Amino acid sequence: LRNDELDRWDRECFFHPSTHLAQHARGDSPNRILRTASGSHIEDRDGKRLLDAFAGLYCVNVGYGRQEIAEAIAEQARELAYYHAYVGHGTEVSIKLARMVIDRAPAGMSKVYFGLGGSDANETNIKLVWYYNNVLGRPEKKKIISRWRGYHGSGLVTGSLTGLGLFHQKFDLPFERIIHTDAPYWYRRPDPAMDEAAYVAHLAGELEALIEREGADTIAAFIGEPVLGTGGLVPPPAGYWEAIQAVLERHDILLIADEVVTGFGRLGTMFGSDHYGIRPDLITIAKGLTSAYAPLSGSIVGEKMWKVLEQGTDEFGVIGHGWTYSAHPIGAAAGVANLELIDKLDLISNVREIGPYLTRGLSEALAEHPHVGEVRGVGLLSAVELVEDRETRAGFDPSRKIGPAVAGRMASLGVVARAMPQGDIIGYAPPFCLTREEADTVISVTAEAIRAELG
Ligand code: PLP
Repeated sequence: LRNDELDRWDRECFFHPSTHLAQHARGDSPNRILRTASGSHIEDRDGKRLLDAFAGLYCVNVGYGRQEIAEAIAEQARELAYYHAYVGHGTEVSIKLARMVIDRAPAGMSKVYFGLGGSDANETNIKLVWYYNNVLGRPEKKKIISRWRGYHGSGLVTGSLTGLGLFHQKFDLPFERIIHTDAPYWYRRPDPAMDEAAYVAHLAGELEALIEREGADTIAAFIGEPVLGTGGLVPPPAGYWEAIQAVLERHDILLIADEVVTGFGRLGTMFGSDHYGIRPDLITIAKGLTSAYAPLSGSIVGEKMWKVLEQGTDEFGVIGHGWTYSAHPIGAAAGVANLELIDKLDLISNVREIGPYLTRGLSEALAEHPHVGEVRGVGLLSAVELVEDRETRAGFDPSRKIGPAVAGRMASLGVVARAMPQGDIIGYAPPFCLTREEADTVISVTAEAIRAELG
């Protein structure tokens, strides 16, 4: 297709997700259309190469152009492109992947239910939690606590779980059974004089007060990302997860760890739960499961829930939850090849080395800049938070769109980072194969773009 045709058809026919539709139709938003990619680089239709420091949407963890995964997908498509996994059926490749996932999962995890994307996996989780409490004969214990700034998808239930206003406004969300508490955000703690322990105690206290206000017998589960992702890339303070788990255990509330971003190595451990000592009842996986070579997600179910679900089907029959594409063999083939590659290339060790190198480098290059409020990171997940005033930590007027301007400038200099949707936060989640030279480029381009936009 010629460029003018592509642009025209794109405007005339294509409904882009999460896009300002009117701006796109007018042609006043950037239109980066990609043709190919390899390693940590993507290439657009004009042959311009960019270093992708966000791995797509933090998902192409093993990097682009991996022939092993492409071959596995092609081979699976030739042998058996599709068969379903409903009662009494399955495919060899999806069973193999289930084994690999459970072998890598934290202790106590028992089974994996495969879906397609992170949103549907969280939808599955909520249904399983409700089913669980129905089997236990406590149908009133159904509310889910999520966190402001958390991101768990954009369906009706998952968009309700997501704690970002954009996903609620004009959609009449959140649904009434879904309530929110504060996520940990050290840089924006209510009182800068608080130390970490006091801040953690404050958050745990807020959670406990919410549970007591609502009534513990109405609350089924708490969902959280080990590290807040789309809401700002914010690692929790020390002791946060231990304190939250103590509250949940006291009130017999299940814990869902949404590891769509953190699963399969992003923090330098196989799961974020391993990194923070989280003991979840359910784990959501997607992105890194296949490095996005094909859509596949999963809900990993812990032993405690599994026993109750099994008992439920003895009482009520088949569990009424499934999609045509649950455990799709092509996604499963991508998953098997992807996890094998992560092991073979020891990519998680590289995350442990290059992640801190990147965060440290960003910090050294930017810490003194008058508009850099905080540089933070864990594993290969980093962020630079830009503020109007370092003293008061006041952000820029959102209408100035400083984050998108800096990210746009970076792209013109050859590096893709993500302007996170809330606050002027530049996010980094590059492929695990990022080299030191590439990390140096990300750092210097960030510094140059910030200087160009903010002086
Ligand atoms: N959960 C988390 C933590 C995510 O970051 C995302 C997507 O970014 C989702 C769930 C939703 O996944 P999907 O976009 O595949 O539906």
